[in-house]
Amino acid sequence: MLDIVQLAVLNDNYIYLIHDPVSTQTAVIDPAITEPVLTTLEEKGWSLNYILNTHHHWDHIGANLELKKITQCKIVAANTDCSRIPGIDLLLSHGDKIKLGNEVATVLETPGHTLGHIIYHFANSHALFCGDTLFSMGCGRLFEGTAEQMWQSLQLIKQLPKQTHIYCAHEYTQTNGEFALTLEPNNPQLQQRIQQVKVLRSKQQSTIPSPLLQELQTNPFLRENSLEIQQSINMTNKTEIEIFSKIRQLKDAF
Ligand code: ZN
Ligand code: FE
Repeated sequence: MLDIVQLAVLNDNYIYLIHDPVSTQTAVIDPAITEPVLTTLEEKGWSLNYILNTHHHWDHIGANLELKKITQCKIVAANTDCSRIPGIDLLLSHGDKIKLGNEVATVLETPGHTLGHIIYHFANSHALFCGDTLFSMGCGRLFEGTAEQMWQSLQLIKQLPKQTHIYCAHEYTQTNGEFALTLEPNNPQLQQRIQQVKVLRSKQQSTIPSPLLQELQTNPFLRENSLEIQQSINMTNKTEIEIFSKIRQLKDAF
């Protein structure tokens, strides 16, 4: 099982350090900034082997070159983003595996937020590092991809084991929950999750990771089949992609 350390940085970003205690290999997912990564490595006595990037936005790659220079780590990122992510050593495509000691991640391409977005599923540790594709009770904005691409990407996540923990890259949970409640005010699991999130956030604690099962029960972007959502937006006879697209538009304006 991976040791996972979550670092809250910038306004609402999360950087994750992951460590295989058997092999002592360590990676960092989406290092926005350098200093807290170095501090954590030092505290833990870990040395950095890899940077794993999910996509090219600055708040996910900002520390790539500096960390590589200091630690001589290798940078791993999507083949599609080879010209947009600095310092790449290893290019990945859909279905590729990346090993961190004894732990293996399967790479899934999830276009939508950006066209080159990828996510890392460490099945043995029940951990999904999904960048800005899925958030707790939300999903990434469509900066480059279409609603259909994002919907397809989310279907890949939906099919993972329900106990998978969703390690997303931002703490957007509370606002996402407020939006979700406008669509599904009578969903008891959503009400319960929002109460839990309020308590955590009032103490400045993280709401992440969230188990996939909880997302399936509360995240409107995974719940096009909810009759209450369909009725809230007057779309009872539309396709899942049409409903998803409408929910995304409503969230953009929320
Ligand atoms: Zn992003
Ligand atoms: Fe981001």
